[in-house]
Amino acid sequence: MAKILDGKAAAAEVRSEVASEVAKLKERGVPVRLDVILVGQDPASVTYVSSKERDSQEVGIESRVHRFPSEVSQQELATLVETLNEDVAVSGFFIQLPLPEGLDPVSLISRITPAKDVDGLSPESAGRLAVGLPSLLPCTPHGIIQLLGRNGIELSGSEAVVIGRSNLVGKPLAQLLLRENATVTVCHSRTRDLPEVARRADLLVVAAGQKEMVGAEHVKEGAVVVDVGIHRGEEGGLVGDVRFDEVEPKAAWISPVPGGVGPMTRAMLLHNAVRAARMQAEAPKRG
Ligand code: NDP
Repeated sequence: MAKILDGKAAAAEVRSEVASEVAKLKERGVPVRLDVILVGQDPASVTYVSSKERDSQEVGIESRVHRFPSEVSQQELATLVETLNEDVAVSGFFIQLPLPEGLDPVSLISRITPAKDVDGLSPESAGRLAVGLPSLLPCTPHGIIQLLGRNGIELSGSEAVVIGRSNLVGKPLAQLLLRENATVTVCHSRTRDLPEVARRADLLVVAAGQKEMVGAEHVKEGAVVVDVGIHRGEEGGLVGDVRFDEVEPKAAWISPVPGGVGPMTRAMLLHNAVRAARMQAEAPKRG
């Protein structure tokens, strides 16, 4: 029977560390503020933004939401990004995705200054990660590394297989695993014989966005399995990319859905806001 990678417990630890760091910064006269740009009324986005606001308040981070109708122009958003980049009261900010059709997220995200890029998704942040320069790390991959580390799972020298190569999860996770000295294989929709490749893994991370795609045939006995996927299940609850009941008896560790990677992703956003505030407080003043 596998041990559970409890994302709720690890996220609570991260939040408590963040709260004490926020308090210390406040004592030094450095308030932490996290801003969000929210465009349109997509219900999932509206829900995510209010939960991120609640998370921030809980740890003492001030949060502001800049709301726009779907018809807002690219230029207006670009101007706001520049304003937030320059505003010394803003520690970090992010654009809630997806944006309505007609708006180009990549060009907007590219304008976010790396020191405030709390989602860690700008091309500059991605490049800094790739060449080993300090940067704010994308929340989901960083949350996975933290979840593994906090459970004492050794990555150095291990065979890691990541299913998925998105800019959001798969690619930055591969970079972080390399940084941890794992031997990394990245799979995608054109990978030949996925089960055979996946069975090499000491650590298998599944971020394919395909409901319950991974089963016992993909998993080596004693592997650590991290399920990133989030889907609505038949009975209304959440399920992942992994068939939990089938994989759990074979794995040494497994992350559940819900309660695994999701809470860690949320906690790492708060961690990034504090890190951004600290970096800015410690940076040499311009001019
Ligand atoms: P994307 O759709 O952007 O990427 C999916 C990746 O999986 C692609 O690289 C794709 O390959 C690959 N893939 C798809 N089908 C297969 C297959 N049958 N075999 C092998 N590879 C496959 O998804 P994201 O990375 O954004 O998200 C992945 C999942 O994680 C989603 O369910 C999403 O909801 C969830 N998610 C969860 C988060 C959390 O906090 N828990 C945060 C972010 C995402 P190709 O490139 O060839 O198309």
